[in-house]
Amino acid sequence: MKQTCITLLLVIAGLIRAQLIAPLEGIENKDWFVVNYVDRDTSSGDSTDYHCGNLTYDGHWGTDFVLRDFRQMDDSVYAVAAASGRVYFTHDGDFDRSKQADTGGYGNFVSIDHGDSLFTLYAHLRKNSLLVQVGDSVTQGQRIALVGSSGKSLHPHVHFEVYKDGWIVDPFGLQCDGFPSVESMFNVAPVYHNELQYISSSVAPDTLHLDDLREDPRQTHITSGDSYITYWVHGLSIDSGDVTRADWYEPSGTLWHSDSFTFDVGYRYWWYYTYIYGPVIQKNIPFGSWHVKSYVNGNLFDSVSFTIGELGVEDGRKVELLLSPNPARDYLLVPTPLKDVKIFDILGKQVQTRIAMADALRIEWDQLRAGVYYLSGKNEAGKELILKFMVE
Ligand SMILES: [Zn+2]
Repeated sequence: MKQTCITLLLVIAGLIRAQLIAPLEGIENKDWFVVNYVDRDTSSGDSTDYHCGNLTYDGHWGTDFVLRDFRQMDDSVYAVAAASGRVYFTHDGDFDRSKQADTGGYGNFVSIDHGDSLFTLYAHLRKNSLLVQVGDSVTQGQRIALVGSSGKSLHPHVHFEVYKDGWIVDPFGLQCDGFPSVESMFNVAPVYHNELQYISSSVAPDTLHLDDLREDPRQTHITSGDSYITYWVHGLSIDSGDVTRADWYEPSGTLWHSDSFTFDVGYRYWWYYTYIYGPVIQKNIPFGSWHVKSYVNGNLFDSVSFTIGELGVEDGRKVELLLSPNPARDYLLVPTPLKDVKIFDILGKQVQTRIAMADALRIEWDQLRAGVYYLSGKNEAGKELILKFMVE
């Protein structure tokens, strides 16, 4: 009798220690999405997730917690220790903006030893973002690094692996008939979700490709200098045979153009995008306030608004000539604090450069070739200002 009690206590202690939390910060199904689970089917060529669904792929031995896009990655999302333990292994130094899944492995990663032969691993982290070293003690929920897209990675995400007694295991357990036949290892497991869901959308000038869309391009003021206007929408779980449609309405409310697309393959993580000609090509395109409504299988899915207008001559805008105080440097001192800063070239086309810092009075950018540029931004009162500057 006494022996039984001791055994029972040990088992309970083991279970408590194994309780995991999600390996990153943020809100489930809003800030991140489980896109691929562990492939429970060990036979080659077949795959099944813990729910006997298809949210996995053949040979995927981990769970992918995926961010919305690279913009969110740039805003810093932390991977956290799923349970307390000691850092067992780390790797850092790999490029962290990968958009390809052909080469590379884990990229930058951290592995944690939780005792009782339980280990976790967090892969594809951002370069030089590791906050822990081998041997460090970590507590559950402690930040260990930033989520990135290093190694073999299409999107910023944490590929999360759990090992028990030397074997890789599925922390979600097994739950095929509505009740668990293997218990989840999570304290509160993320909800299994395989329904169509909206993530994000916008319009942006130019013709865009999938790699651009992963960055979350958004610019709702299209100018007379733009040749194309792309509408895009990003979502979860679209099925083979589903039809997406985008209807473009000009300022008068008249349908300008309609596009539709049939998915011949289903995707867990998908984008639909379509463009129309902008003012440079389509000379008679009406200026003013436009709308795009998009549909999936005839049901309204999304709606966005944007404007088309001349660059720099609208009412309420102020154009000033301002020479960069030091044209040899990649920064500009502006006369008033600005936010939502964008840079346009002399033709009014937005320059696809990343602004490294737009802090109050000083704006830094990655690299601009010699030329004259416009910089637009909003002042503290929310009024849009346009400044003109020169890079020598
Ligand atoms: Zn993965």
